[in-house]
Amino acid sequence: MSRFIATSAIRGAHGVVAKAEEMYKNALEKYGADAPVAFVDKEGVGSTFFLPVIYGYSGHKVEKLGDMAWPLEHAMSLLPPVPSDNLWLPYLGETADAGVATLFAEEIIKGIEFVEGTQPEVRNGFTFNGPISDVQTRSWGIQMVDGSMPGFAAVIGAAKSNEVAVKIVRELQSKGQLVFLSSTSNGRSIVDQLLEEGVELGYPTFTVPFGTDTEATVYAAGYASRAAFSFGNVEPGNFREILLYNKFRCFAFALCLGPMDDLKWATGAGAITYGFPAILDTVAPNILPTGITRYEHVVSMPFDDIPGRDDLERAERLVQRCIEVRGIKIKIPSVPIPVAYGPAFEGEVVRRENMQVEFGGKGGICCEWLSMKDPDEIEDGKFTVVGPDIDSAEEGGKLPLGIIVEVTGRKMQKDFEPVLERQIHHFVNGAEGIQHVGQRDITWIRFSKGAVEKGFTLKNLGDILHTNFHNDFGAIVDKVQITLYTERDKVEELIEQARTVYRERDARMAGMTDESVDTYYSCTLCQSFAPNHVCVINPERTGLCGAYSWLDCRAAYEIKPTGPNQPVSKGRCIDPVKGVWEGVNNFVYDHSNRAVDRFTIYSLMDAPMTTCGCCECVMIVIPEANGVMVVSRDDYSMTPCGMTFTTLMGTVGGGQQTPGMMGHGKRYVLSNKFIPVEGGIKRVVWLSKNLKEEFAEELKELCEREGMPDLMDKIADGTVATTVEELLPFLEEKGHPALTMESLI
Ligand code: SF4
Ligand code: ZN
Repeated sequence: MSRFIATSAIRGAHGVVAKAEEMYKNALEKYGADAPVAFVDKEGVGSTFFLPVIYGYSGHKVEKLGDMAWPLEHAMSLLPPVPSDNLWLPYLGETADAGVATLFAEEIIKGIEFVEGTQPEVRNGFTFNGPISDVQTRSWGIQMVDGSMPGFAAVIGAAKSNEVAVKIVRELQSKGQLVFLSSTSNGRSIVDQLLEEGVELGYPTFTVPFGTDTEATVYAAGYASRAAFSFGNVEPGNFREILLYNKFRCFAFALCLGPMDDLKWATGAGAITYGFPAILDTVAPNILPTGITRYEHVVSMPFDDIPGRDDLERAERLVQRCIEVRGIKIKIPSVPIPVAYGPAFEGEVVRRENMQVEFGGKGGICCEWLSMKDPDEIEDGKFTVVGPDIDSAEEGGKLPLGIIVEVTGRKMQKDFEPVLERQIHHFVNGAEGIQHVGQRDITWIRFSKGAVEKGFTLKNLGDILHTNFHNDFGAIVDKVQITLYTERDKVEELIEQARTVYRERDARMAGMTDESVDTYYSCTLCQSFAPNHVCVINPERTGLCGAYSWLDCRAAYEIKPTGPNQPVSKGRCIDPVKGVWEGVNNFVYDHSNRAVDRFTIYSLMDAPMTTCGCCECVMIVIPEANGVMVVSRDDYSMTPCGMTFTTLMGTVGGGQQTPGMMGHGKRYVLSNKFIPVEGGIKRVVWLSKNLKEEFAEELKELCEREGMPDLMDKIADGTVATTVEELLPFLEEKGHPALTMESLI
C-alpha cells in the first residue's frame, strides 16, 4: 500500500469523523435526539433502507438523530492512528478501516444536513438530486440485471475543461453507465461545467448530480448497498455479501477528476471497500495488485499524458481505460453515427432554442410507416432520401418527412408490422441530441444543433433503424430498406396511404370485446421515459400512444417473449363495473416499481391508468360543466381547462396516476368501453375539432347507437369555446346531456 495514499486517506478519515462528531453534538442540542432522519431525493421520494451504508454494513437503523450515536462511535473506533512518515503500511487493512469510517461519517453528515434542511443542495438556483430514491433504484434494476446498464461511474471533482466534462459524461452514457456527480476541484464542480454547456441532468438522462461536496459521494455507496439488497437479495448487516455482490455484479468505479485531497483519498478508500476501483486523471501512485477490487485498486492516468490528438480523444481514452479496469462488457450495439448512442439518451429533450431542424409538430407533417414486402422487392441496407436534405432548412426550421421502412424475413408476418413500426420511436430516441415523439401520422422529430454540428444527417436516421432492426429483431427480419421523403406533396400522399393502413390495422380489432378474452396485455416500452408507467391493453382500448392494440401486443409477445409486452391474466374480478381485476392490479403493482397498486379499466375518476408522454389525447374533467373534455396532440389551440395539449401532457405525463385526468389513444373515444363508469361519450362536452373531422363517420354511428343522433352538435370544440365561460352557455343552449347527468365529483 502506498504510504502516501494510506497517510492521506487516514488523515482524511480523521478529519471527516471529527466533523461528523461536531455536527452531531450541535444538532443534538438544537433538534433533540428524537428529530427524525430520512434521506429523500429532490422530488421528496425516499428510501426504506434508512442510512443505507450504515444499514448495509451493520444492520443498524438510523431513524432519528439519537440513532446516530452508535455508528459515530463505531466510526471512531475504526480510525487507525495516522501513520508517521517513516511507517510503511504493507496491508490495505487499516486504510480500508479508515474508508469505512469515512463512509459512516459522511452518511451521518448528510443525515444531519437533512435534519437541518440543507439537503438536497441548492446552488446558483440549481437543485441537486441528493440521494437516489428506492423507486428509481428499482426502475433501473432491470437494466442492471439484464446488462444493458452494467453499472455506474461516480465522477468526483471537475474536468480539465467544460468540453472535456461533456465528452466524459457522453462517453459514459453511451457505454450504458449511470453517472453520479459530486465534489469539486479548485472550487469547480463538474455539475457547473455540464450545466454551463446545457447538458440535461437527472434520472431520465441517467445522470445524478448528488452535490458539490465530497461527502455527497456517499450516496453512490448507498445506491450500491440498496442494489445489493434489492437485486442481490442480500440481508442488511451482511457486509461481506454486499461487497461480493458489488465486486462481481455491480460494475462501478470512481473517476476522480482534478487534484486529490485527504478527504477524496479517504472516500476513495471507502469505495475500495465496496470493490470499486478509482481512476484518477492526475499523478498518483498506482495500486495495481488486485485484492478487494476485482482488478486494480487505483489507476493514475494524468490527463495531459494520455496519448491523443486533442482533449476530446484523451477524454474518450480515459473512459475507455475506466471500462477496461472495471472489466465491463458493453452490450449496446454500435450504431455507425456521428453522435453517441445508448439508452441514456432516450429521455433527452431537444428544446426549441437548441433545435436545428424539426419534422412534424405544429404546422408540420411527418409520418412513419413500416410494411412487409416480398424478399426480391427490396435490398437490405438500401437507403434513399427523396427530396432535399436538412441543409435546405434554415436554422430552427421545419421539413416534411415520411419515413418508409420496408422489411422482409422468413418469419415476418403482416401482424408484426405495427409492433416493428412502434420501435422506431425507441430506436431514434437513443441518439444523442435527437428527439422522437408520437407515432404514425403524428410523429414529431427534432435534431439538435449539437447533433447537426457533429454531422448528423437524415442518412443517420436510416443507419439507426437499419442497425437496430437487425440487432433487436434479427430473428424475424432479414432485410431492411429505408426511404425518407421530404417533399410536401409526396409526404401528404404517403400520409393518406398510411392512414388507410392504420385504419385497417385498427379495424382488425372491431368486434372483439373485453369479455371475449381472459388475458389482457401490458406494455412497458415507455418506462425508459416514465419509469412507473404501465399500459394495460384490452381489446376495446389501445395503448395510449394509439400504436399498440391488443393484437399487436399479442404479436409482440410472440416475437419477444421476454419483451415489454406481457400477457396479463385478468384473474378474479373485483368490480365488473369499474373494471377491476386482481390479476391486473397485481401485475401493475409489480411492474410500476410498486408505485401503483390499483387500476380500473373503465373509470376516469377512480384509479385511472397511468399516463406517459406518448398519449394521442388527454381527457380531463371540467367540473363546471359536469363533463369531460378530450384534446388531441395535433390540436394546438387553447382549451376550456385553461391548458393546451402540451401543458396538459406535461401535467399528467411521466407515469402518474391522476384521477380526473388521463391520456389515451384517439380511437378510444369510439370504443364501447369509453369511460363507461362516467357515462361514456355523453360525458364529453368538448372534443378537438380534428378528432371530430377525422372520425366524423364513426362518431355519427356511435351517437346513433347511443340513441342521440345529434350528440356531436352538442359537443363543443375549439371553434366555439376555448374557455369555460364560452363553453357553458353553448352547452346550455344545445341542451347537452352532461348538464343533467349524475354529478361527476
Ligand atoms: Fe407501450 Fe403504452 Fe408506451 Fe404505447 S404508450 S409504447 S402502449 S407503454
Ligand atoms: Zn410513452
